[in-house]
Amino acid sequence: MSVQLMNSLTWKEIADLDRENTFCVIPISSLEQHGYHLPVGADDFILEYSLKSLEKIHLDSDRNILILPPIKYGNSFEHLSFPGTITLKTKTIMSIIEDIVESLSINGFKNIICLNSHGGNTAVLHAIAQDFRYKYDVKILNIDLWASNFFEDADEFIKTNFVTDVHAGEIETSLLMYTNPDLVKEKACSCEELANIVNFNEFDYSWLSKDVSKCGVIGDATDSCIETGELIANYIDLKIEKIFNSILKKF
Ligand SMILES: [Zn+2]
Repeated sequence: MSVQLMNSLTWKEIADLDRENTFCVIPISSLEQHGYHLPVGADDFILEYSLKSLEKIHLDSDRNILILPPIKYGNSFEHLSFPGTITLKTKTIMSIIEDIVESLSINGFKNIICLNSHGGNTAVLHAIAQDFRYKYDVKILNIDLWASNFFEDADEFIKTNFVTDVHAGEIETSLLMYTNPDLVKEKACSCEELANIVNFNEFDYSWLSKDVSKCGVIGDATDSCIETGELIANYIDLKIEKIFNSILKKF
C-alpha cells in the first residue's frame, strides 16, 4: 500500500504495481480570475495543498494511490471577461481526460479518481464519468472540493454563510492566507462591489461572473484571516484522508 507520484516512478515500478488494486488520481484545477486580492492560480494552489494532504494520508487499506500530474486549466468561461483567465473548452477537457483514461485502461488500470478544485469543471466531469465507464471498463469517481458537500462542515468556523461563499470568498482567501501568504493582496473589495449573491436554488442559467460581480468575487472575503485558513487546511487534511479511505474500502 502506498501513495506515489506517477511522474517520479519508472515504467518498471509502475508495471510491478498491483494495477487492478491501484487508484489513479487525475487532479484538475483552473487558471482564472479570483477578485482583486487573489492570484489567478488560486484553485491550483488549493489543489496543490490537497495533493500534499493526499501524499501524507494514513492508508487504511492494502491498495495503492497513484497521483498523476495535474491538469492546471479548466472550464472557466464564466470568468473569461476578466484578463488572466484561460479556459479550456468543454470538448477539450473531455478529450484530455479521455486520452488519459484510455492510456491508463490500455495498461490495466481499472480505478480512476478525478480530484477537482474548480466548480466550473464539475458538470463535465460528472458527464464523462459514466461515458468512460462503459467505453473503457474503468470505474471513475469524482471528488469535488466545491460543487459537493466537501466544505459543508467548515460552516462552523467561517463567518460567511457557506452557501453564499461561491468564489474567492472567505474559504479560498483564508486558506491562501495560510498556504501562500505572499500571494494574497491586503485589499479585498468594497461593500458596493460585493452585492453579488447568486441564487441557484430554483433554476440555473448560463450566468457569467460579470453579471453579478464587478470585482470578480462571488461571496465576501472581508472576514478572511490566517487562523481560519489554518482551520480550513486541517479540515482538508482530515477530509481527504476520510474520503480516500472510504473509497478504497468501498470500491
Ligand atoms: Zn477558486
